[in-house]
Amino acid sequence: MKDCEYQQISPGAAPQPASPGARRPGPAAPPTPGPGPAPPAAPAPPRWSRSGSGSGSGSLGRRPRRKWEVFPGRNRFYCGGRLMLAGHGGVFALTLLLILTTTGLFFVFDCPYLARKLTLAIPIIAAILFFFVMSCLLQTSFTDPGILPRATVCEAAALEKQIDNTGSSTYRPPPRTREVMINGQMVKLKYCFTCKMFRPPRTSHCSVCDNCVERFDHHCPWVGNCVGRRNYRFFYAFILSLSFLTAFIFACVVTHLTLRSQGSNFLSTLKETPASVLELVICFFSIWSILGLSGFHTYLVASNLTTNEDIKGSWSSKRGGEASVNPYSHKSIITNCCAVLCGPLPPSLIDRRGFVQSDTVLPSPSRSDEPACRAKPDASMVGGHP
Ligand SMILES: [Zn+2]
Ligand SMILES: [Zn+2]
Repeated sequence: MKDCEYQQISPGAAPQPASPGARRPGPAAPPTPGPGPAPPAAPAPPRWSRSGSGSGSGSLGRRPRRKWEVFPGRNRFYCGGRLMLAGHGGVFALTLLLILTTTGLFFVFDCPYLARKLTLAIPIIAAILFFFVMSCLLQTSFTDPGILPRATVCEAAALEKQIDNTGSSTYRPPPRTREVMINGQMVKLKYCFTCKMFRPPRTSHCSVCDNCVERFDHHCPWVGNCVGRRNYRFFYAFILSLSFLTAFIFACVVTHLTLRSQGSNFLSTLKETPASVLELVICFFSIWSILGLSGFHTYLVASNLTTNEDIKGSWSSKRGGEASVNPYSHKSIITNCCAVLCGPLPPSLIDRRGFVQSDTVLPSPSRSDEPACRAKPDASMVGGHP
């Protein structure tokens, strides 16, 4: 699947039929998920379409486009928008290759010997761990991490007007931050110039994917996705189970080599089983980083922190010289773990399988030829977020 590139279509292009399942983003960002009533037919403003479709602008109006086809971020979509991945998937392919190679070699070259000499439980445990690791990895990689839809042109214009009105009569530009009180702690909301909205608390803009992500933890090239509010639990389960799988394979391979070398030279045993040696090398060099990462994220889960907040020192006294506490912490390790790992999973807000409305003016970072907005929403862009 190729990257999406966009070009503007002339205002005279034929309007598209609105689908019954389509929805129009709400007046305030981020919009709430779920289907909504289709808006009435209206003159088609400039619309955006993928370039390189090969069919020309005349045929673009015939097929209703889904939102993933005109998604402004750098993500790639597969299976009709059901699966999504970050733009550069090379490192993710390496992760898959390392896991599949190591586990495959283990099942082919070590498990038969260990099952015969020791117990059948070894391949069974390895298979269960392997399937758990893979399911967590794929869920982390192909799940929407919590992307916030960009403000539409009308929403951005309404917010700009609001910011201008709050500005003073001086020549200084109006402030691009807002402050909200969360559990007695003042939290600053920054304006995102790409998404044209004030980022809700704990939201950050991923420069790789070019999206604002809720409860942004970090962008992980190894899983090929951002890690955020909607896939953090899968990511944590992935690194934790991968630690167990790596340690299990390492211990089993060492046992295999030790049993084989009994009564013979150890070096000649290594020469007989080069696959086991390769597994040993991969496990030895990867286990330290995986164990370290698991430990670090266990600390983050127990404190209800994100990697982003920890690196920036958002709630440490180092910043600004004034002591501050994490306002999101429940002051209990168990409650923090439950809140981070077992809380309700919020729905995806980007509605990537939904249809683009014929009169929707899609967000774009820089355009000066916008049509007049039909409705001027006056709600704050941060919507439900304080
Ligand atoms: Zn953003
Ligand atoms: Zn990202």
